Amino acid sequence: MSLLQRILNVFSGGSGTGGSMLYPVKVKCNRCGEILTGTVNLANDLSVEYSPSGSPQSYSCRKIVQGNGRCFQTIEVVLHFDSHRTLKEKEIHGGTFVEE
Ligand SMILES: [Zn+2]
Repeated sequence: MSLLQRILNVFSGGSGTGGSMLYPVKVKCNRCGEILTGTVNLANDLSVEYSPSGSPQSYSCRKIVQGNGRCFQTIEVVLHFDSHRTLKEKEIHGGTFVEE
């Protein structure tokens, strides 16, 4: 099933997408050391980049994670996926990734 079909399913109220469409991110703030978590919804949050032939070539997602108000640091997470929505690369600004 293509990502577009998945998105359409979500918007049409389709069920059964399960938890597999959620990619959890866990980061540590560079400023205060707080551990923050966020979730990237692979169905809604990804931007598609198309190849010259018009087919989806890769996906990327930019996610802003912020603490609970004690700290004003904004942590920017950028995830890059290939055409199969497999995570290829991740970048972070303002914090570091916490590996489970
Ligand atoms: Zn902080």
